[in-house]
Amino acid sequence: MSSPNELLASVKPAFTNISPARDVVASFDREGRLFSYVAGGRTYRRTLASDVEVRERAVEGPFGRKPSERNPAERNPSGRTPPGRKPPRVRRRLSRDEAYRLFAEVLQAVEDVLPRTDGELRRRLEEEVLRWTPEALLAEAERFAAVYKPISILPPDQYLTVVLQATEGCTWNKCTFCTFYQDRPFRVKSPDEFRRHIADVKAFLGRGLLMRKSVFLGDGNALALAQRRLLPIMEAARAAFPAMPIYSFIDVYTGERKSVADWRALAELGLHRVYIGMETGLDELLALINKPGSRDELVDFVLRLKAAGLQVGLIAMIGIGGHQYREAHAAATLETLARLPLGEGDIVYLSPFIEQPGSGYAALRQSRGLTPMSEDEIEAELDRWARHIRSRGVKAARYDIREFMY
Ligand code: SF4
Repeated sequence: MSSPNELLASVKPAFTNISPARDVVASFDREGRLFSYVAGGRTYRRTLASDVEVRERAVEGPFGRKPSERNPAERNPSGRTPPGRKPPRVRRRLSRDEAYRLFAEVLQAVEDVLPRTDGELRRRLEEEVLRWTPEALLAEAERFAAVYKPISILPPDQYLTVVLQATEGCTWNKCTFCTFYQDRPFRVKSPDEFRRHIADVKAFLGRGLLMRKSVFLGDGNALALAQRRLLPIMEAARAAFPAMPIYSFIDVYTGERKSVADWRALAELGLHRVYIGMETGLDELLALINKPGSRDELVDFVLRLKAAGLQVGLIAMIGIGGHQYREAHAAATLETLARLPLGEGDIVYLSPFIEQPGSGYAALRQSRGLTPMSEDEIEAELDRWARHIRSRGVKAARYDIREFMY
């Protein structure tokens, strides 16, 4: 919609966008909270806990980027990106003070455009957006922490889901490369506690729920619960969000304990797709990273999920094991994927391996003398795997855990 004086804006059921100037766009959820802000070639995204990440991708002309657009901290300060590669995307979390100033800047921009608005847009800006002072937005961090344990990771297609933490942590928590849930012991919420959690999540999101289209059952492997404990949880999630498909992570070693009938019962309660951290199809490498299961177990498990009518998302890590495992890891993983009946709705996520400092994997790599692959080598490998998987008609996508935000 266009308002008086050519102000560009869109007033949608799930969000409000305004563009106070060329190349400036602010988006708000239906509670009026800032969702994203684009200005000065930078994109800012606010998480539900009011952390703000800024991202920018430099624009290059034939002679590289202008000196004013170069980041002196880049490895390649000439401003010229090697042929065939995209200019680097620079990401950074704002400090609390910087976030405050950004929220104030956006608020000022809204106040400035208000006289140029009318009708529903004006009503929303006045009643929904302008009540969020920078202080109120920053205080969302405390509200978030009262409802959720930190949300460590989600699959890339689920960044706009409604997370419900039926469990906290991971039942295993011992894979050497993974630090996602090391801050918490595994814990299951009772059905009453889970129902209260759902009510708290709904109250916290408010009309912000309108921009969310699915439910994600967290944390690490909530579906590992025995069926008698899981069914009431699924029923409560379904009753609270009857129109939304449900997604969740699961690992082979816990998922394989359920029968096709068990999985079918979960599908009937709204479970739509499960995401499996397969990591590799090479058993030797799986043992090295201390992840239970095997490639044969994975194949059996996926067959069972498909027989139950579920979609699967498989996550493999590119670069784990370093140069020494590069070929064997690729050959075994691609071969394992080829044995799976993947089709429409299924997806293979290829995740560039990021070694966490101080992790068990870092110590293991050193003691085994494994040499890490460079970022460029990992990206080239990722492209090679993706082409191979897509050539079989299966969807493959990049999964960069550094881009996760909720
Ligand atoms: S990779 Fe998965 S199973 Fe392993 S510790 Fe992390 S969350 Fe748990």
